[in-house]
Formats: sequence, structure tokens, C-alpha cells
Amino acid sequence: MYDILIIGGGPAGLTAAIYGARAGLDVAVLEKTAAGGQITSTHRLENYPGFAEGVAGPEFSQILLEQAQRFGAAYIADEVMDIQLDGSEKQITGKLGTYSAKTVILAMGASPRKLGIPGEKEFTGMGVSYCATCDGAFFKGLRVAVVGGGDTAFEDALYLADLATEVHIIHRRDSFRAQQYLVDKAKKKTNIFFETCKVPLEIRGGFDLESILLRDVNTGEEKELAVEGVFVAVGQQPDTAFLQGKVLLDAAGYIVAGEDTLTDVAGVYAAGDARTKTLRQVVTAAADGAVAATAAYHSL
Ligand code: NAP
Repeated sequence: MYDILIIGGGPAGLTAAIYGARAGLDVAVLEKTAAGGQITSTHRLENYPGFAEGVAGPEFSQILLEQAQRFGAAYIADEVMDIQLDGSEKQITGKLGTYSAKTVILAMGASPRKLGIPGEKEFTGMGVSYCATCDGAFFKGLRVAVVGGGDTAFEDALYLADLATEVHIIHRRDSFRAQQYLVDKAKKKTNIFFETCKVPLEIRGGFDLESILLRDVNTGEEKELAVEGVFVAVGQQPDTAFLQGKVLLDAAGYIVAGEDTLTDVAGVYAAGDARTKTLRQVVTAAADGAVAATAAYHSL
């Protein structure tokens, strides 16, 4: 039985592993894909303290993983199918095995939200992407649209502007949620264009993606924009469906927990993007991981 079982190997989970293992506890991290979580699809992490020149997302993930393993944390590649959090012995059933632990840290993060419009599903992987860093190179010399007005949309647009001939940012309002620094940087690019107060209605094409249909939210006017790629950056949703009824979630599915990372279940902590919080950043996820592991340590 592990002292701490951490679900999710992103910055929150791996930091919890570093703190827990360094405190001498028996710690394991369960992760269904690659270590690092969403940060693996980040081209350059520029605002993490200590990395003055920035660091590539995959490289940062690898550093965190190696640091956790150096302190003795186990890393298990498995996907959680069911979880039993009541009592002093928590049971986690994965696709490949069953695990028990005295405490559990829920750090499964979030996934990109979908637009839910016709053509999105059909062209996913064939012109529609949720990760500019992963797929941007396929659109070298082509025209792309980025849907969204947050930090991700602007970071994606700036990254794509060095590859694509035209980048069209499609946003449903006339002001942006993204940091002003990113907005200013995008406005200086000659090949980034803005389609504000527009919502996407349909992604169209034959064998290849050819256009995106937009509607002006003020006038109702429709317009077809010719692009070969559509990058969707309309926020995230927490990967907490399997926790329904097991731990308190808010209406959007985030695990209800404060800065102390305590959930409504004894011995269960929530860290990183999956938790209710105001700022979802790598630095706040890492901070949560440290707080959660320390709280688990004291409870043990
Ligand atoms: P976000 O901040 O939630 O922004 C999502 C954007 O998509 C918003 O502009 C929203 O419009 C729009 N949107 C949502 N649903 C939509 C729909 N159905 N159709 C059209 N547009 C829709 O998400 P994010 O940009 O992925 O960022 C998530 C978190 O990560 C944030 O806390 C962000 O600060 C952080 N982040 C930070 C960095 C960095 O610091 N370098 C980089 C990336 C992400 P409205 O504005 O009208 O709601």
C-alpha cells in the first residue's frame, strides 16, 4: 500500500511526488499518457520562475519526472477506471492493475474543450487540431484559423505565424481574455488577422479542410473564411468524470478544494488545473502539488 498515490503526472502531480518522496514516503504517480500533462504540448514555457530564457514543454516535463524519480517516486503508466476513496484504505482500479493507498492526490488536470460544431469531429487530425505545437508544422505555407481569445489562442497564433502564411484569430467578443503582452505581440505580426465578434458555425471541406463558416454576433451576417487548418483554443475542461459522486465537484466539474488542497473526503487532496482556483498556471499547479503532498505527509 502506497502512502500517497498521485493521479496525474503533470506539474502538480510530479511536484507532489517530489515533495512526498523527498519526505521519505512511499509514493507512486499514475499517468495514462506521457509525463507532463498539458505542458508537453507547450512550445515554450516563458513564465516559470528560474528559466529566464524559457524552456520547451517536453523538456520541462522530463526534468520534473527525473527529479521525482531521483527521490524515489514510482511512475506507473495506467489509466484509472474506478476509484474508491472512502475509509483509510483507498482503492484505485486501473486498466492494468489495482492499487491501494493511504492518501490520494487528484492531479489529473484538464483537456481541451471542443467547439461542438459540424465538421469539427470529421476533420480532427485532418485539419482540425487542439495543439499548435504538435501540429503546426503540417501547416507551413498554408492559412490557418485559431478559435479563442485566451492565452492559449494567442500563444498558438504567435507560434503559427512563423509557419503559416495567414493566421486568423476568431473570437466571439471584441476584447480578449489573453494577457495584454501577448495581444500586443500578436498585433505587431503582419500575418495575424483578427475576426472579432464572430462565432464559428461549421468547418467545411471535401477530402481536405477548406474553410470555416463564421457568424457575426452583432449583425448575424455569415462569412466563409478560406483556411486549410483550424486550431481550437477555447479553454479546457477538467478530466474528472470518473470522480462523479466520489468527491465534491462544482457545476463545471472542477474538484472543490481551496488553497489547502483539501477535498470533502478525508485523505484526498486536489492539486493543479482539476481543482477550483483562480489562476491555472504551471507555477500554481506546482505549488498545489507541494501543498497537497505536505498535507498528506502531516495526515500520515
Ligand atoms: P481560457 O482562458 O478559458 O480562454 C478560452 C477562450 O475561448 C476565451 O477567450 C473564450 O471566450 C473562448 N471560448 C470559450 N468557449 C468558446 C466557444 N464555445 N466558442 C468560441 N469561443 C469560446 O482558456 P486558455 O486560453 O486555454 O487558458 C486556460 C488557462 O491557462 C488560463 O488560466 C490561462 O491564463 C492559462 N494559460 C497561461 C499561459 C501563459 O501564461 N503563458 C498560456 C496558456 C494558458 P470569452 O473570453 O468570451 O469567454
